[in-house]
Amino acid sequence: MSEEKKTYEPALCASCEGYGCTVCNKTGTVLVTAPKRPCRHCGGAGCIYCGFTGWAEPKSKYD
Ligand SMILES: [Zn+2]
Ligand SMILES: [Zn+2]
Repeated sequence: MSEEKKTYEPALCASCEGYGCTVCNKTGTVLVTAPKRPCRHCGGAGCIYCGFTGWAEPKSKYD
């Protein structure tokens, strides 16, 4: 077993483009798994797969 520790980095919220919304908890940014990369399903536009963040593997707000 490897001790893989996920790191997160802030990324611009695709749903509001930085203005603040429920997706990003009004911060304009979301934490995504580093290295951040656009969601392959929507290309960064936001969809159900990325939780409307536009990024692959966003940090769950329920963690
Ligand atoms: Zn937002
Ligand atoms: Zn997506």
